[in-house]
Amino acid sequence: MGLVDSGRSPKPLTALLNISRKYSLWVYQWGLACCAIEMGAAFASPRFDVMRLGVIPFPASPRQADLVVISGTVTDKMAPAIRRLYEQMPDPKYVISMGSCANCGGPYWDSYSVTKGVDQIIPVDVYVPGCPPRPEALLEGIVLLQERIRNEDPAERWKGEPIHVGGGEPAR
Ligand code: SF4
Repeated sequence: MGLVDSGRSPKPLTALLNISRKYSLWVYQWGLACCAIEMGAAFASPRFDVMRLGVIPFPASPRQADLVVISGTVTDKMAPAIRRLYEQMPDPKYVISMGSCANCGGPYWDSYSVTKGVDQIIPVDVYVPGCPPRPEALLEGIVLLQERIRNEDPAERWKGEPIHVGGGEPAR
């Protein structure tokens, strides 16, 4: 464990580290259904130009990622793969659940084959509601997460409630 991880780093160094982490978020995408189209628009189109926010999309491997966006319908069959990719990501790592399906099963809430929320498999930091959410909503979730990273104490990772874009609980 390094000086920063153990909380023994000087405060200015921690602040510098947090600013660096905030503006160099490598984001891995895990698109599973229609929400992934909106995620693609947010990450790959010049209209939204996500790199201006310090977000670097599409690393080749979860081992290079700081953040993963789960967007779309999480099936029970896919659940072990999601767990595995999360475990492959290095700490500190963050998860955004994008859309009603990833949040709670969405229109498939009574399906025998759909997991009712990706938070049953991995911890979620940000919930983005909608069916599907617009790219702007995903970007708002990323900006809110960046603010949290900016003020985070690396020695005492934030353990409070997750962020709900738009406020309140995700629609169930
Ligand atoms: Fe498709 Fe709606 Fe589910 Fe997104 S929340 S994957 S748009 S059905």
